Amino acid sequence: MNMHNVQPLAPPAPQRCAFDVLELLVIPAFVLDAHCRVIMWNHACERLTGVPAREVLGTRDAWRSFYLQARPTLADLVLQQRTAEVAALYEAYQREHEHGHARGEGAHLSAESWCDMPRAGRRRYLAVDVSPIRDERGAIVAVVETLRDMTTEKQARIALEQLATRDGLTGLANRRCFDDTLHAEWQRALRQGQPLSLLMVDVDNFKQYNDAYGHVGGDTCLQRIAGAVAGEMRTNDLVARYGGEEFAVILPNQALKGAAIVAERIRCRVERLMLPNLGVDLGLGQRFVTVSIGAATALPATDTDPAHLVATADAALYRAKHMGRNRISLTNPGEPER
Ligand code: GH3
Ligand code: MG
Ligand code: MG
Repeated sequence: MNMHNVQPLAPPAPQRCAFDVLELLVIPAFVLDAHCRVIMWNHACERLTGVPAREVLGTRDAWRSFYLQARPTLADLVLQQRTAEVAALYEAYQREHEHGHARGEGAHLSAESWCDMPRAGRRRYLAVDVSPIRDERGAIVAVVETLRDMTTEKQARIALEQLATRDGLTGLANRRCFDDTLHAEWQRALRQGQPLSLLMVDVDNFKQYNDAYGHVGGDTCLQRIAGAVAGEMRTNDLVARYGGEEFAVILPNQALKGAAIVAERIRCRVERLMLPNLGVDLGLGQRFVTVSIGAATALPATDTDPAHLVATADAALYRAKHMGRNRISLTNPGEPER
């Protein structure tokens, strides 16, 4: 493994000295020349990728050490003046001002993405930085790419996001995520002039269920119901645990008629779980766990807000309970209660 053997790619003497320093660096790094050929691949880069320098030196195959599918590295993008593609290829990126040069092609770039790492055998989340090397006329003659393994930090960030947006018991979106999503969907519906529907789903007589089966039994029941509700969702719908034994479903671009169909499907699906409810002895013949659902639809306008939609769905839910439970009830905000 000796880059000086790669003729005619060997850099001139001053650069060679710099390359020797890069070789010793504990940070994984490689250098591409103006033709995107690898002219330096240090020991740390060998360790990170599992690819020895002798295999890549002189080739344009740096990408193979990181990805399964052919795609440019960040250094390739800079050399080929294709930095407009960075946004599409990386999860995050940042461009920094290069001393003495205008912002634009060839500036320092930082970016992050998941890499397959075919030879290392495990996916890694890498943060990469590229810096162009210029000749005395300012033309880019090579690009240095350094890499940092950020997998642990990325996984911690994902876990934190999960904690912040997911409900621990059911795995559904939590209340905060529901509030944020409802707000965002309201704004979208307002812009697009589309209706927005909301279902409030509440487990019937759940207090008695807990009394009969204990809190742990109650928790398991809530998990089964959460799975049943989530099973009826389309990609753009959101189901959240709104509170204790209450779930909320956001149905974007859905009018009241469609919302009623979804609500009825959810009600039936929970009933079909046939979760026995020994605690229920109301003389109604309901031996299984059931839910009541309030549905409401709004055509968002600037003089109303999402809280009004929630209140309307809640009122409809209250009515479903009042009418005997295990049923759905519908309202449009502003409509007289039916
Ligand atoms: P209704 O049909 O009117 O909704 O009656 P209900 O008994 O379901 O309503 P109520 O609000 O009186 O009781 C809700 C119960 O849900 C009380 C509470 O202990 C239980 N609960 C709330 N969160 C949880 C939870 O996370 N786990 C368990 N096991 N029970 C919960
Ligand atoms: Mg209840
Ligand atoms: Mg309740």
